[in-house]
Amino acid sequence: MDRFWTPWRFDYIRGADSAPSCVFCRILGERRDAENLVLYRGRAAFVLLNLFPYTSGHLLVVANRHIRLLGDTLPEELHEIIDLGRRCEQALQAEYGPEGYNLGFNLGRSAGAGVENHLHMHVLPRWTGDSNFVSVVGETRVLPEELPRTYERLLPHFGPC
Ligand SMILES: [Zn+2]
Repeated sequence: MDRFWTPWRFDYIRGADSAPSCVFCRILGERRDAENLVLYRGRAAFVLLNLFPYTSGHLLVVANRHIRLLGDTLPEELHEIIDLGRRCEQALQAEYGPEGYNLGFNLGRSAGAGVENHLHMHVLPRWTGDSNFVSVVGETRVLPEELPRTYERLLPHFGPC
């Protein structure tokens, strides 16, 4: 894995020392949304910037409940997760105008899930010429924009929580 100077990553690692083991449950409980880059809180799911983004605008839609699989969701939870995926797409389209998207779930460690026990959907904007999604998951990338700037740009598109 390549290493780059990424201050948000350092904060993330430092903050994890004394926290519960699940980072999504911790963020949900903390109510420090700007610091944690949470863009929106819904009834059944929330949206935040991926702390280890592959490209600018790499978002996550996370179930509020600590559940592992799609089979663990209630219909209204699944509906809200997909609906928030739509809102992510619309926000990214307005702000970044990518040429395409990957939306998807990595379920379980062997599938590449970074937080394997808490269901989340990746929303990844794509441009022609960027690398294959699957081959780059888990690697650090050089980013064209820092996370706080991405947060500033996308936040107005999600409206009040
Ligand atoms: Zn959790």
